[in-house]
Parts: sequence; structure tokens; C-alpha cells
Amino acid sequence: MSPRWVSEAFSYTNDEHHAFVREALETIDGFHEDGVLDRYDIRLEAIYSAGGRELEGLIDPDTRIITINPNGASKRFTLLHEIGHVLDFSLGIWTSIFAGDRPELDEWVDAVQESKLIREYQKQAADADGAALHTLKLLLEPPEVWARSYAQYIASRCLDGSPLRSELDAGFSIDPKTHFAEQWEPVDFQSIDVALHSAFSYWRGYDDCTFAKATFPCR
Ligand SMILES: [Zn+2]
Repeated sequence: MSPRWVSEAFSYTNDEHHAFVREALETIDGFHEDGVLDRYDIRLEAIYSAGGRELEGLIDPDTRIITINPNGASKRFTLLHEIGHVLDFSLGIWTSIFAGDRPELDEWVDAVQESKLIREYQKQAADADGAALHTLKLLLEPPEVWARSYAQYIASRCLDGSPLRSELDAGFSIDPKTHFAEQWEPVDFQSIDVALHSAFSYWRGYDDCTFAKATFPCR
């Protein structure tokens, strides 16, 4: 018998520092079921890139550890992003898209390719070099696009002014560290949202999800 709720796939310390973890997982549980995920530990720890820049979150599929930076400005949203990677790793989303056996995601692939944000990255990557090109390549990596769209899919259903919605809204603006926006403007996200919704409805374990846009508090 597989676990029913997404939250059951994750372990973390049950204390006040991890309250946001519990709240973000409760939010996901409110939207879709497990679908048989690998089990992961969630830890809080300051993390840095090779260049010494503080990172918001990190996932290691080998040790099955998600690390969230407790100093991060968008801890909840970052956790949704990392859980997007868990879905990808557990359900083999990218491997099967490349193998051509995820027809339920064809619409999502098209919607992403046609979005203004992704076209803008591609346009800029054509003339970029150095650090900007490196960042654009990371932003265009398919698993990253998947994780960012999953996080936006969940957070965009939260009430205006809820922490998750505020953290998502911050992602529309240009990040001063990278000079790029990471998330899609709401209008640009519409067709991606519709495509993700039909894929989630199709997948086993996700078919009785109830999507109640703007009625779920989402702490
Ligand atoms: Zn990522």
C-alpha cells in the first residue's frame, strides 16, 4: 500500500524551525496525492555555491536529502521547487519525456517552449557569454524548468498575501544576483498551468485532486 499523502514521503525534525516545512507539505497535500514518491530527508543548513554564493536550496537524489537554507528569503517556495525535483526523479518524468512515452506532458512541453520567459532566455543566451550564459543555461535546463513550473503551479493556487504567494510573486521580478526573473508572469503561465493541470489529472494517484484556486489558505 503506497503512502497517500505527499507529506508522508518526507522526514524532518518536528520543531518550530521546521514549521514552514510542515505548512508547505500540508499545502501540497491539499492539492494532489503522492503517486509513489521516493523518501527524502529535509534538513535546514546554510548552503553555498562553488563560487561562495549563498544558495536557497539543494537536492541530492543519491543520499535523498533536501537541504533548505534557513536564511533564504523564500524557504517555502524553494521547498516546493525541490519537491518538484523529487516528483521528476521518482516518476522518471524527464527520462520518459525524452523517450517519448509521456504524451500527457506534450501540451506542457509546448506551453513551456512557447512561453515568453523561456523565449526570452533563449534569445538572450544566443548573445550571452560568461556568467550570464552560465545562468541562462541553468535556467533552461529541462529539470529546472520542470521544478520551477511545478512550484509555480502549486503556489499560484494560494491566496493573495499568503507567504507562499508572496514568495512566488517575488520570483517574477528580476533577481539582482542573476539579472533574470526565475518565474513566469501570471499571464505567461496560464497555458503552462492548464497543461500541468491536465497531466496531474491523468496520472495515477493524482486523479482525485481538488483544485480550489484562491480558496486554499496556503501558509
Ligand atoms: Zn532546481
